[in-house]
Amino acid sequence: MLNIKKIRRDFPILKRKIYGHPLVYFDNAATTQKPQKVIDTINKFYIYSNSNIHRGAHYMSDEATISYEKVRASVKSFINSKHLEEIIFTKGTTDSINLVASSFGRLIISEGDEIIITIMEHHSNIVPWQMICEEKKAKLLTIPINDKGGMLFDEFEKLLSIKTKFIAITHVSNTLGTINPIKKIINKAHLFNVPVLIDGAQAVAHTKIDVQDLDCDFYVFSAHKMYASTGVGILYGKEKWLNEMPPYQGGGSMIKSVNINKSIYSELPHKFEAGTPNIAGIMSIDPAILYMEDVGLHEIEDYEHQLLEYATQEIMKIKGVSIIGIMDDKTSILSFIVDGKHPSDIGIILDKLGVAVRTGHHCTEPLMRCLNISGTVRASFAFYNTFQEVDIFINAVKLAIKMLN
Ligand code: PMP
Repeated sequence: MLNIKKIRRDFPILKRKIYGHPLVYFDNAATTQKPQKVIDTINKFYIYSNSNIHRGAHYMSDEATISYEKVRASVKSFINSKHLEEIIFTKGTTDSINLVASSFGRLIISEGDEIIITIMEHHSNIVPWQMICEEKKAKLLTIPINDKGGMLFDEFEKLLSIKTKFIAITHVSNTLGTINPIKKIINKAHLFNVPVLIDGAQAVAHTKIDVQDLDCDFYVFSAHKMYASTGVGILYGKEKWLNEMPPYQGGGSMIKSVNINKSIYSELPHKFEAGTPNIAGIMSIDPAILYMEDVGLHEIEDYEHQLLEYATQEIMKIKGVSIIGIMDDKTSILSFIVDGKHPSDIGIILDKLGVAVRTGHHCTEPLMRCLNISGTVRASFAFYNTFQEVDIFINAVKLAIKMLN
């Protein structure tokens, strides 16, 4: 059992009132709120030790470098990577995918090759692959889904061929909540010697990730969806690939030496970390991981699942509501539409009642087209949410429908 009262006290923003109502924050798939320890870490950095890292110029610079590199070790153990050098700090999931598409994509994709994604991908895991396909005259293929929002594995098997050079798949759909069978996909892909990137943006805060067990080639995620700062994220990549890949960006910190005609690049991980990063943001990842581990990843998963089941059961009692994404294997994302009502109209009324949800296509336009809808209302839960909040949300949806009738 989680001590939700105590947990909620750790997240100061949850005390807020919106239009006079207590905030019910159900937009956790967009970004999660931050516990006090994460906020304190960012503040402390600027109050006590703001310095640039990896310069070794003075005491505070060394101190900042040590704290920054400690985060790399925390992330390594959080996702169980084999080597520290396999953890690259980026600006987020989008940046990590662009790095892999630009660097690895350019290295391995040629004319006539094929890259496979699913139809449920976030735009971040579509557009970078489209760009590389356009440049290389390669083809982007999509795995379709069934009526419940589950990926069709046999269709994936049909798409695999000697032309397949890369697979990029979301671990969890940000619109449907579907958990994809990534281990099975990775195993199958590896039989064809095809490397796989997993977009873990919606998974990492909800379930335990073990990149060695998954045997994925790349795993990417954003810190802001796991209770840490915006603007920072992680690229995990197998050392053998990262070593082969050319740098994504050139500049300071990623070089050993620069001659005007040619430069020698740094070793991993610095080869992929050009320029001054968001130091405080990266430092905030450490307390966020500690917080989640303190609560317990399994306990988080369990509790969020109970919230999802309760919300699902209650929303299904409302006439005219259809849930989009009803696979058994789901994280705490509840997307729905209401007969004859526009998702954004419902969202506006929920907002006025203090309930924060997201409405629209959720950056998954191809999925929306495939489902033949323009958007959904999406409620997404975190472990600081409560069953009482689900009740408030359900009553707010009922009221919104009544008002729109
Ligand atoms: N992939 C998925 C599945 C997501 O949900 C998101 C964020 N909504 C992203 C990628 C992009 O993440 P970011 O904007 O933090 O780069």
